[in-house]
Amino acid sequence: MTAATPTTTSSEAQAWLDADVALVEGVTSRAARTLRQALGIATVRDLLEHYPHQGRYRDIGEQVALSDAPLNEPVTIVGTVARWNVIRPRGRRLTIAKAQLVDDAGGRVEASFFNQEWRARQTPAGTRVAVSGTLERFRSALQLRNPKLVVLDEGEAPDEADRIQPTYPATEALPSARIARYATAALQGLGNLADYLPIELRRRHGLLDLDSALRRIHRPAGLDEVGPARDRLVYDELLSLQVGLQQRRYRLECEAVGLAQPPVPGGLAARFVAGLAFAPTGAQSRAFDGIGADLAAAKPMHRLLQGDVGSGKTLVAAWTMLCALDHGHQAVLMAPTEVLAEQHLRTLTALLAPLGVNAPTGPRLELLTGSTTRRKRRGLLAELAVGDVGLLIGTHAVLEDVVAFDDLGVVVIDEQHRFGVEHRTRLRDKRADQRSPDVLVMTATPIPRSLALTLYGDLDVTVLDELPPGRQEVRTKVLPSASPRRARLYDFVRERVAAGERAYVVCPLVSESEALDVAAAEEVHRHLSGDVFADLGVALVHGRLSGAERDAAMEAFRSGAAQVLVATTVIEVGVDVPEATIMIVEDADRFGISQLHQLRGRVGRGTARSYCVLFSSAPTDDEVDSPRLAAMSATTDGFKLAETDLELRGEGSLFDTRQSGLPDLKLAKLVRDFGWVVRSREDARELVAGDPELTGHPLLAAEVRRRYGDERLAALETG
Ligand code: ADP
Ligand code: MG
Repeated sequence: MTAATPTTTSSEAQAWLDADVALVEGVTSRAARTLRQALGIATVRDLLEHYPHQGRYRDIGEQVALSDAPLNEPVTIVGTVARWNVIRPRGRRLTIAKAQLVDDAGGRVEASFFNQEWRARQTPAGTRVAVSGTLERFRSALQLRNPKLVVLDEGEAPDEADRIQPTYPATEALPSARIARYATAALQGLGNLADYLPIELRRRHGLLDLDSALRRIHRPAGLDEVGPARDRLVYDELLSLQVGLQQRRYRLECEAVGLAQPPVPGGLAARFVAGLAFAPTGAQSRAFDGIGADLAAAKPMHRLLQGDVGSGKTLVAAWTMLCALDHGHQAVLMAPTEVLAEQHLRTLTALLAPLGVNAPTGPRLELLTGSTTRRKRRGLLAELAVGDVGLLIGTHAVLEDVVAFDDLGVVVIDEQHRFGVEHRTRLRDKRADQRSPDVLVMTATPIPRSLALTLYGDLDVTVLDELPPGRQEVRTKVLPSASPRRARLYDFVRERVAAGERAYVVCPLVSESEALDVAAAEEVHRHLSGDVFADLGVALVHGRLSGAERDAAMEAFRSGAAQVLVATTVIEVGVDVPEATIMIVEDADRFGISQLHQLRGRVGRGTARSYCVLFSSAPTDDEVDSPRLAAMSATTDGFKLAETDLELRGEGSLFDTRQSGLPDLKLAKLVRDFGWVVRSREDARELVAGDPELTGHPLLAAEVRRRYGDERLAALETG
C-alpha cells in the first residue's frame, strides 16, 4: 500500500503560509484590503493565526427528524418553509416573523425570528432550509427561537463538518462567518505542513501535530477537539518565546566577559550584615547566596530582584554594592525619580553608618541628580572618574556620557520597569574595558510568576517572598467619597497623631493638565490645614514644587513637625516614614491596583497597626462597585493582587507598558496557561543548553527566528 500522495510538499506548505491572503479562494481583492486594514491580516499565516474566540464555538447539533428530536438540546432540522406569519404585538416596537417548517418526514416546527421581517422575503414558502437551535415545546407546538438558518439546494444535506461553528473576532464589514469560510479555504490550500516541534517534546506532553492542531482549532469535528488543538498552539507560542530568550541569553553570555567579585569574608559586605540591628530574613539570606554566586562567576550577572513593598530590597542592594567595593570596584544605583534617589541616599547613609561611610577613612557615598548644583557636580564627576567615590546613587543623570567611572563593578537599577532597555545597556557600557559589570534590577511591583518567567526568560529571578518579622497587615476600608464616616475618620487621624503617628492623604494626578491636578491637591491641603486639622501640621508635596520646597515638606513630615502629608503620587514608591500608619487615598477609583498597592505599602512599615482608607467616587456604599478596590480590601499580598490585576486588565495591557517588542502571544494567556509557561521554559532551557543554535532541530530554529528575530528579542529584554 502506498501513502496518499500529498497535494503539496512541505516547503510549498511553508510558502503558502507566507502567501498573500488575496490568494485564498473566495477572498476578493476588496476583502483582502479589509482583512488587512481591519484585522491586520496580510498573509495566509495571519489568517490561520486569527484564532476563533475560545469557548465560543457553537455546536449546532446533529441533524435529526423532528419525530426523534430531543427537547432543549441543540439540533438541526432540515425541511421546507410552508408559510410565514409576521406578528406585531400591540404596544411594543417589535416584530416577530414566524415560519412554519415541514421536515422530510412531515413533522412540523415553528421557527420564530425577532425583528427580522426580511427573512420572509429572503426564504419564501417553498425554500428548503436547515435550521439549527434549541428545540422547545410551547403549548403543544414545537418551536425554535432565533435559530440559525441556512438555505439548501434541492436534495442537499447540511455539511456535518459545519456542525461546530467557531466565532471569530470580526468586524461589521467582515463577519465571523465570512472569516470562517476564508479560514477553511486557507486550510484546504495547506496540504502537507511539516511539524517543527521535535517529536520527543510532542510525546512528552501528549501534543497534537501542528497540521491537526491548526485544522482542529478552526474546524473541529467536535467540541472536545478544541482543547488539545489549543494546547498545542499555546505551547508553540510559549516555547518559541522561551527558546528565543534562552538563545539570546546564551549569545550574550558567550560574548560578554564580566568581573569575578565574590563576597569577601570579613569584608565590608560581611561586616555590614554582621552589624545590622536585626537578622536578615530567610529570603534575604537566600538572595545573598544567589547574588553572591553570580558575583563570583566571571560571566556578568543579569538578575531580577522582585520583592513586595517593605520586603527589604534596599538591604540586598546595599550588600551587593558593598561586594563591589570589597574588590576595589565602584557601584551605582539608579532610581526613576529624585524623591526615590534621595530616599535611597538617606536609607543607605543610615544603613552604612556603622561602616564609617563618608567618614574620612570610610567609603564615599554620593548623590547625582538633575538638581545637583554645577559646582558640586563638577567635583563629583572628577572624583568618580578616579575612583574616589565608590558608591553613587542617582537618577537618569548618571547615564550621561560625562559620567565616567574608574572601575564600575555593580549596577543596581531600582523600579526597572520605569527604564528602557537602552538605559541598562548604557550603564553596562560604562567601563573603559570590554568587560561588563554585574547588573541587579529590582522591582517592587510584584509581577505574577507566570509573567516574570515569560518576560524575564533571560534573567535569573530572585523573589523576596518573606516580610521582616513584626509587620502587621494593613487594615483596608473602602468608603464612598461622601460617606458620613469621613468625619469619624478625621477624628481617628487626630487620635493616632496624638499617639505619635502620622497620616498620608493622597490626591491623584489624572487630568490632562498637571496644573489642574496640583490645584486640586492644593485645595485639599487648604481644606485640611485651614479647617479639619487646623491644630495640626499639614504639609503638601507635589511634582510642581522645587526640590528645596519638596525636601522641606518631606522633612517636616519625617521629623513629625507635620503630622499629615497631602501628596500627589510623587510618594508612590519608596518613601519610608515608619511612624506613618494611616493612608487615605482620595478618588481611589482612578488608580490601578499596583499603584494602590504601592501607596498602601507606605504604611505598615513600623510595628504599629496601620490603616488604609480608599475613597471611591461612588456616591453611596451600595454603589461602590469596583473590582479593583474590592481586591485591595481582600488581600495585602502583592503577588495575589498582581494576578488579579493581570486578569482584570487583560494581559495585553501589561505588554503595552513595554512599548516595543510585544511577545507574539495570540492564544496563550499567562495566568491560565501557567502550566505551559513553566513546561515550555524548562524545555527551552534543556534544548538550548544541549544545542544552543538548535542545529539538531533546524525547523524549530527557523520557526523561532521567524517569530522572534534578534531585534524583537532585544526589544523584549528587560530594561
Ligand atoms: P523595600 O525596598 O523592599 O520596599 P526596604 O528595603 O525599604 O523595603 O525595607 C523596609 C523596611 O524594613 C526598612 O525600614 C528596613 O530597614 C526594614 N528591614 C529590612 N530588612 C529587615 C529585616 N531583615 N528585619 C527587620 N527589618 C528589616
Ligand atoms: Mg526600598
